[in-house]
Amino acid sequence: MGKMMRAARLHKIGEPFQVDTIPVPEVRPTDVLVEVKAAGVVPNLRNVVTSYPKWFPFLPLPALPAIYGLDAAGVVSQVGSQVRSGIKEGDRVYINPGLSCGGCIACRRGDHVNCTAYTFQGYFGFGEGSQKLFEDYPYGGFGQFLTAPVANLVKLPDSISFEQGARFGYLGTSYSALKKAQFCPGQTVLIDGATGTLGLGAVILALAMGAAKIFGTGRNKVLLEKLRALDPSRIVPISLGEKPTAEVVMAATEGYGVDVLIETLGPNAPVSNVIDSFNALRRGGKAINIGGVADPIPLEPFPLMCLQKSYIGSLWFTTAEGQDMADMAASGTLNLGVFEHERFKLDQVNEALDAVEQRTGGFTNVVIMH
Ligand SMILES: [Zn+2]
Repeated sequence: MGKMMRAARLHKIGEPFQVDTIPVPEVRPTDVLVEVKAAGVVPNLRNVVTSYPKWFPFLPLPALPAIYGLDAAGVVSQVGSQVRSGIKEGDRVYINPGLSCGGCIACRRGDHVNCTAYTFQGYFGFGEGSQKLFEDYPYGGFGQFLTAPVANLVKLPDSISFEQGARFGYLGTSYSALKKAQFCPGQTVLIDGATGTLGLGAVILALAMGAAKIFGTGRNKVLLEKLRALDPSRIVPISLGEKPTAEVVMAATEGYGVDVLIETLGPNAPVSNVIDSFNALRRGGKAINIGGVADPIPLEPFPLMCLQKSYIGSLWFTTAEGQDMADMAASGTLNLGVFEHERFKLDQVNEALDAVEQRTGGFTNVVIMH
């Protein structure tokens, strides 16, 4: 019998995770075997593993029992026989869990996030082809080892801890949103839900990318003040439920508005907040939605055309964007020191899920340590 490892697996929707002993996977030619050191427990995981299919009926889950764990960071312990360069044993890496088929039209164009079978390893998929990708890569961050395509690795410098690396998924989502908005140094950005997990990521990335001014909305005044303290000259907190956000932004920008809106509010957020923030965008501004407000948004095409405003959906990020973030953090422009890590052992995975519910906004980073 080969080497064995421990992995927290879900055996039935709605039941707790169970730690099982299973074989360490064999590495295939173009894959790597990674010894996981830290795995992020993402805020949405409980919804997925308790309420499926109510919550995301159109998003397929891996066949059970399944190893979850979306965001993993660790050390390469073995490379496949056809891994030629760039990655070697001992490299510290973040594993981008976004899997694509390689053969569909989007994949052949190099547009992997738009693969018709796009799948989050250790989480859920987006298409009919996802189940096959789950079978190819059935290992997530809640296992001691996982296999991944070599093309999905982000190399982490020594200055990035594994705990910080385990935050790269939500950070990358925010970074890709700013890139899709063509956000430039010297511009202004409004981040709706700025104290949350996606929002805080967007704030520190906008700081790193040279934002002139960052307006950030939130409800918790203590967290808003903590956010402002990250860079008091550039961050303007906006307390939701007082003045309309658009009014605050327009007053602060001489009636011009912000260049970019990053909308991070979650599925249950009121549509009125989205509209209010959208009204804070300047002519030609771009709004990027990464939070997934569930209700329909009444957008009027005619004024949208006249003002050349865009409302764009954005999912996840590319491995190249992940590497950008690692390089920005290595150079000191991106400050990953804002996170407060709450570390749990693998046996405590169910407690970690509870801890995510109790988190103090985006500053808390709940991780499983192997
Ligand atoms: Zn594809």
